[in-house]
Amino acid sequence: MEFIRRSIINFKQYPHRLFYYGLRRNYCTKNGEAESEEWPRRVVTGLQPTGALHVGNYFGALRRCVRLQDTGDDLMIFIADLHSLTTHQNPQALQENSMELAALLLASGVDPERSVVFVQSAVARHAELCWLLACLATQARLAHLPQYKEKAATLKEVPLGLLLYPVLQAADVLVYGATHVAVGGDQAQHLQVAAQLVRTFRHRYGCQPFPTPRALLPDDGSDRIRSLRDPSKKMSKSDPDGKSRILLSDPDDVIALKIRKAVTDFTPQVTYEPDTRPGVSNLVTLHCLAAGLTAEEAVEEAAALTTAQYKQVVARALVAELAPLRERAADLRRRPRLLRDVLRAGAARARRRADAVYERVAAAVGLAPHAPPADRARAAR
Ligand code: ATP
Ligand code: MG
Repeated sequence: MEFIRRSIINFKQYPHRLFYYGLRRNYCTKNGEAESEEWPRRVVTGLQPTGALHVGNYFGALRRCVRLQDTGDDLMIFIADLHSLTTHQNPQALQENSMELAALLLASGVDPERSVVFVQSAVARHAELCWLLACLATQARLAHLPQYKEKAATLKEVPLGLLLYPVLQAADVLVYGATHVAVGGDQAQHLQVAAQLVRTFRHRYGCQPFPTPRALLPDDGSDRIRSLRDPSKKMSKSDPDGKSRILLSDPDDVIALKIRKAVTDFTPQVTYEPDTRPGVSNLVTLHCLAAGLTAEEAVEEAAALTTAQYKQVVARALVAELAPLRERAADLRRRPRLLRDVLRAGAARARRRADAVYERVAAAVGLAPHAPPADRARAAR
């Protein structure tokens, strides 16, 4: 019945497409639910190589990848160099930053045997699928997104790439048939764009070659590290105030200094009340993440301390976590060939996975076949 109903709708709206429908059904699935037998759980995440990383990026993204990997998730991590180009980048710095990010990922514990680690631009399918999805997206919807509006408001000439950014993000995920995306809270709306594109695809072509991806948000507060200078904002690479963030490259004494200068309030006791006391609660969160404590444990440990004394405890915990990471990353940076080999092998695995999905999409939209179908067994891992 469903097939007949859809055929009638299809025929009324797009008579020329009906001819291809039977062919497309072989390539597409109607069951778009995330994490089913048809769509085994797969997590994708991307990180932009746009400058020095801070502890927010570490706890909210890098270490989170390691946790997901260690719980056995099928994880794909890409260095989002194409996304970086939406704002002007110095070409040499962009390359350097990509290698730095690769070093930090491995230094954090990402294992390239278990997770697929690669550079986005090395897998052309991201951009190819982006084009197909861009033809389904509307300018009005994209221009309405808060992040676009915020960024566009600061520019005289708005690059088209900035508008398309969420479409490329959708392609990054859909091209691997990913069921989940490890994102920070700031990206949740962009994921809605991906879900909308999946729906539009299904309505337009009567099939669904990828599941609807869901956000995977952490429950330990690691996606909401706040600025040390203005705790109403998140810690951010692009904040003009360098003291608002602790960089992963900061030496121990700089970490201690930045924590000492962190804005709190006039109450000396340490409590965890993110809504009413965001500054001191942010320090508790950092302490918990660095030392592996719950908020209750951290507050109990700080019961006899003033906020000023507690800052020393937080700084020590951060130094204990970040100093070894800094050294491991520096070690890896001295081995560029190893980093390149890891990224090359990761890109080859990613390409095989992307080819399998892209071919289904290309067939569904009616692109003429120009390559033999990917070897499905080979593409499975
Ligand atoms: P920008 O200000 O340029 O947007 P950013 O600091 O937000 O930079 P991104 O490159 O946008 O960094 O994000 C990289 C990853 O780090 C993303 O997964 C994002 O969700 C996460 N992330 C960014 N800021 C924080 C933060 N303050 N707390 C936790 N996670 C964060
Ligand atoms: Mg950001």
